[in-house]
Amino acid sequence: MEPPPERPSLYVHLPFCVRKCRYCDFNSWAWTGQDLRRVVDALLLEAERRARDLRPPTVFVGGGTPTLLPAGELARLLDGLHEITGFRDSSRETTVEANPESLDPERAGALREHGADRLSLGVQSLREEVLEAYDRVHGPAQALEAVQTARAAGFRRLNVDLIYAFPGQDPELWFQDLAAVLALEPEHLSAYELSYEPGTALTRLRDAGRWPEESEERRLLLFQETRRRLAEAGYGQYEVSNFARAGEACRHNLVYWRSGSWIGLGAGAAGSEGTRRRRNLADPEAWRRCVERGEDPVAEIEEPGPEVLLFDRFLMGLRLPWEGVDLEAARVATGLDPAAVFRPAWQRLQDEGLLVVDAGRARASARGFLLLDSLLEALLPRQQV
Ligand code: SF4
Repeated sequence: MEPPPERPSLYVHLPFCVRKCRYCDFNSWAWTGQDLRRVVDALLLEAERRARDLRPPTVFVGGGTPTLLPAGELARLLDGLHEITGFRDSSRETTVEANPESLDPERAGALREHGADRLSLGVQSLREEVLEAYDRVHGPAQALEAVQTARAAGFRRLNVDLIYAFPGQDPELWFQDLAAVLALEPEHLSAYELSYEPGTALTRLRDAGRWPEESEERRLLLFQETRRRLAEAGYGQYEVSNFARAGEACRHNLVYWRSGSWIGLGAGAAGSEGTRRRRNLADPEAWRRCVERGEDPVAEIEEPGPEVLLFDRFLMGLRLPWEGVDLEAARVATGLDPAAVFRPAWQRLQDEGLLVVDAGRARASARGFLLLDSLLEALLPRQQV
C-alpha cells in the first residue's frame, strides 16, 4: 500500500468517438468531422497554461476514444505534453484508452514510442449480438486483434474493459467471454456491471419498456462468480470493478480512489487539488474556442466543506477492499475525526460487521463490500445532523 503521490497526476480528455454507445454517460460526442488537429493544439495550449513543469506521477489519456486521432496526432500530443509537463521523466504509469476499431499498428506504435506504457482497451463483450445492442462500432474479432496489436507494439501492461449483466443472457456465455479474455493474459481487467445512468439511450429504452433489466439477484450472482473466477485465475480484486495481477493495479485510478490530486485537461475534464475541485466546459467546441481565445475553459469550481470532503474520502476509499480509508490522512485533510462525525453509524456499522476499523484504517468487511451502497448511505452527512 503506498501513500497518494504528492504531486498532482494528469488526466487528458479526448471527447470524440465514432458514435455514442447506448450505455455511455461519459463526456463523449459523436465525431462529425471536427478538426482533431485543432483539438490537440487546444489541449497543448491548456496544458501550457495549467500544467507547465507539472512532472505528474501518473498520466491517463482517456475519452471518448483517444485512438480516433491519427498516429501523427497521437505522437504530437504525447510529445507536446512531455515538452510542457516533463511526464516521460516523472510518470510511473502512462495509460492511453483505445478502442478496437481504431487501434491499428501505426497508432499503437506511435503511442508506445512517444511515452505510453499502458493501454486500456474497450472490449466490453465478445458477443456480436451484445456489441450490436450496445451500439459498439467493433466486433469480437477486432477486439481480439487489438490485443495482439497492442502486444506487438510492445505494450507489456494491458487492461481490458468488459461489461456484464446483459439482460437475459445465459451466464455461461458471459463466463465464456471472461475465459476467452483471460486466455489473452491481460495484466489488468475491469469488469463493470451494465449500468443505467440518467440520460443514456439505454436508460430511455428501459424506461420505455423496450429493454429489460437483469434482476438484482442475478447481478449479484454474476458479480460474485466473476470475482471467484478471476481470483482463481490470479487476478486480485482491488476495487469494486477492477482486478489485477500482483503489482498491476492502475496507479492513476488509485489516485482518485485514494483522494489524491490531479489536473484534468480537455472538454469536461474534472480535476481535484487539495480541497478544490473543478470541471471544464463539457461541450468540445465551447471548450476549444475558450482555450483558443486565451481564456480558462472552466465550467465550475467547487470548494466542498470538510464534512463533504470526509464523506467523499469514504465514498472513494471504501471501494478498495484491502486498503479502505487511511483515518489519519482523512483527519489531516479535513480536520475532522471520522468516528465523531459519523456517530452513531460508525459504531453500529462495526457492530453489524459491515465496517472494519483496524490499524488506523476503515474498510468494508466482505459482507459490507457487497452492501456498499447501504453502508455509504449510513455515512451520508445528512444522517449525522
Ligand atoms: S467508446 Fe467509450 S467513451 Fe465512446 S461512447 Fe462508447 S463507451 Fe462512451
